[in-house]
Amino acid sequence: MRAPSTTALLVVDVQNDFCSGGALSVPHGERVVPLINAIQAQYDIIVVTQDWHPADHASFASQHPGRTIFDTVDMPYGPQVLWPDHCVMGSHGAALHEDLDVTRAQLVLRKGSHRGVDSYSALLEADRATRTGLDGWLTSRGVTEVHVCGLATDFCVAWTALDARRFGIAAAVIEEACRAIDLEGSLARAWSEMTAAGVRRLASADILAA
Ligand SMILES: [Zn+2]
Repeated sequence: MRAPSTTALLVVDVQNDFCSGGALSVPHGERVVPLINAIQAQYDIIVVTQDWHPADHASFASQHPGRTIFDTVDMPYGPQVLWPDHCVMGSHGAALHEDLDVTRAQLVLRKGSHRGVDSYSALLEADRATRTGLDGWLTSRGVTEVHVCGLATDFCVAWTALDARRFGIAAAVIEEACRAIDLEGSLARAWSEMTAAGVRRLASADILAA
C-alpha cells in the first residue's frame, strides 16, 4: 500500500536510551528498527522525532529530592511521572539507534528541551499549550493523516496520535512497529483513549502489501 502524499509517517523516539541497555529501556525497543526501515518505502513524507532534554530536566527523578523513579509528582501543568535521566541532549543515549534509516526523513524534530515541561507528544508539550510546530509543518504540506510508530506505544506514540486527532488530523498506530513500557496498566489505558479518539490500529502487513 503506497501511502498517498497526504499521509505522513511519524517515527517516534527510536533512540538508544529507549532500547536495550539504555537509561529508560523499553522492552525489546530496538526490535522495531527493521520493520520501521521497511515501511518507510511506502511513504513520501517521513518525520523522525527525538526526545531531547537538558541535563536538569524536570521529568528526571534526580531533580526531585526524596522522590524515586516512576513516582508521580504534581507539576504546574498536572501530574508528571518521574523518569531516570534519559535522552540528555547531545549524549549517546539521545542519539537515534544507529540502524534506523533516516535517509529519507525530511524533518528530525526534537522535543522536551524546555527544562520545566515534559513533551511526550510530538505536537504539544505536557502543559498542553506549547506547540512544537509540527502541526503547522504537517498541515502546510497538506498532510491530513499520520501513521505513528516507534517508542513507546503507551507514552510518546499514544500522546502523539491523540494530539494529531486534537489538531483534526486522522491518525493510526502501526502496532507491530511500536513497543510499550506498560507501567501499571498504561498500555491498556493508552489504547482505550486512542480508540475513543478515533485512532486506528494498522497492521504492518497491510502497509507492506503491494
Ligand atoms: Zn523524556
